[in-house]
Amino acid sequence: MRALPASVLTLCALTAAGCGGVAQGDAAAPGRAPLQAPAASAGKTATKPATTPAAKPLQGLTIVIDPGHNGGNYRAPKQINQLVDVLTKKKPCDTTGTDTVSGYTEAAFSWDVSNRIKKILQERGATVKLTRSDNNSVGPCITERAAIGNRAKAAAALSVHGDGAAKSDHGFHVIMPKKINGPVDPVVGKSRALGVAIRDAYLRGTGIPYSTYIGKNALDFRDDLGGLNLSTVPKVFVECGNMKNPGDAAKFEDPRFRQKMALALANGLQHYLKA
Ligand code: ZN
Repeated sequence: MRALPASVLTLCALTAAGCGGVAQGDAAAPGRAPLQAPAASAGKTATKPATTPAAKPLQGLTIVIDPGHNGGNYRAPKQINQLVDVLTKKKPCDTTGTDTVSGYTEAAFSWDVSNRIKKILQERGATVKLTRSDNNSVGPCITERAAIGNRAKAAAALSVHGDGAAKSDHGFHVIMPKKINGPVDPVVGKSRALGVAIRDAYLRGTGIPYSTYIGKNALDFRDDLGGLNLSTVPKVFVECGNMKNPGDAAKFEDPRFRQKMALALANGLQHYLKA
């Protein structure tokens, strides 16, 4: 049902100048001031640009994107191995994440894709917060990553990852929270809806198949992730593929494909938020 409008919006987001006359002749001020026709004068204020509602479908919504891991985690084992309480168990504050055979790290991947998602969502009007501000520092702990989404009162939160499974395994999956008799319980249902929206959009947008090794139809439910257990806002993880699989790794390492991933994930978030 929503495929058509979403794809139209997608085009709008990608090529601002191509959508409904939003920015024709306005290339110098993308997304800023309302369109000013050359002949416009002070007295000509009767009509607003016809673009406002459709061009900013996510206006007023806050979305938190959590780029998994951090580039500095490799050099700070003591710090990231400190145990934190994720309610169902104690776990390390954070981990290094995985990498491809050629050494492209999950932290670099998640940082890149998260920033691409942020840009797309901002162009659609959302307020977007990331859980870290660079890819050279350490952490934050998984507990803090959840807390950032909670404090922002995010309408939705997405944690971006790449998996590190056996070489022959491939495909993507989405991880959603389970009820744990804890703070996440009230948003388990919404998180499931978010997860399904992300799954559907990611398959459609990237063509990467469902995971061959985890979950059912690319949906997995876990109660051992601090980022989910401690979330009071709808939140899921996406494992965008298996970085140890050569076919998946080639996609991770291709910036054009990463843009495709980001667009698909942004569309999934939008579909959930506008459903
Ligand atoms: Zn990860």
